[in-house]
Amino acid sequence: MTKNCYALVITPHPDDAEYGVAGTLVKWTRDGKEVIYAVCTNGNKGSNDPEMKPDKLAEIREQEQLAAAKLLGVNEVIFLRHEDQSLEDTPEFRKEIVRLIRTYRPEVVVTSDPYRRYIWHRDHRITGQVVLDAVFPYARDRLAYPDLIEQGLEPHKVKEVLLWAADEPNYFSDITDTYEIKMAALHCHDSQVGHLPSEWANFLRKRYEQSAEGQGFALAEAFYRVEVWW
Ligand SMILES: [Zn+2]
Repeated sequence: MTKNCYALVITPHPDDAEYGVAGTLVKWTRDGKEVIYAVCTNGNKGSNDPEMKPDKLAEIREQEQLAAAKLLGVNEVIFLRHEDQSLEDTPEFRKEIVRLIRTYRPEVVVTSDPYRRYIWHRDHRITGQVVLDAVFPYARDRLAYPDLIEQGLEPHKVKEVLLWAADEPNYFSDITDTYEIKMAALHCHDSQVGHLPSEWANFLRKRYEQSAEGQGFALAEAFYRVEVWW
């Protein structure tokens, strides 16, 4: 079954969407717009605790992601459950993303900027690249996947892509009023942020202040925004 959601947020790991777009997307969900999360990996390598087992961590991180999504009013969370640090730009992964886009038919797709220089998590780089390719041309083109057409997954044109963590952002979203709920959603990821020093929150706030400089508001999430007009 297909549906027309407003935004499909495709995140490499549980927690990236909260860092990248939570303050922006909560404005959408508060407006009654449907937002869907797709989480590409299970995050099962994100721990330095010698006692932690990958399977256990994956389970914990799914629960953390569900709690954060619930707080933000996200309508549905899809877990693709790829192994952490394993994403590659393969025809299979690309098709998986095309299938999501054609199923949820979003106006806006949000993901990680693949072109960030130089040190950048490979899963972030690969997710961004594969999502951009899936948006155009693969989700759009009828002849790209005849089998998906047979399954009722018609071509879909995404109107806009927002990329978080861009080196040179061109779009600044006011999160002054949603900053607190964004931080609360980040705190749902206790396995990731629970052990961080208190300066972490100050550091983050500074970053959002810097992104808002010259914008006429206090705090911003920054994106590279691409309008897809062809
Ligand atoms: Zn990540």
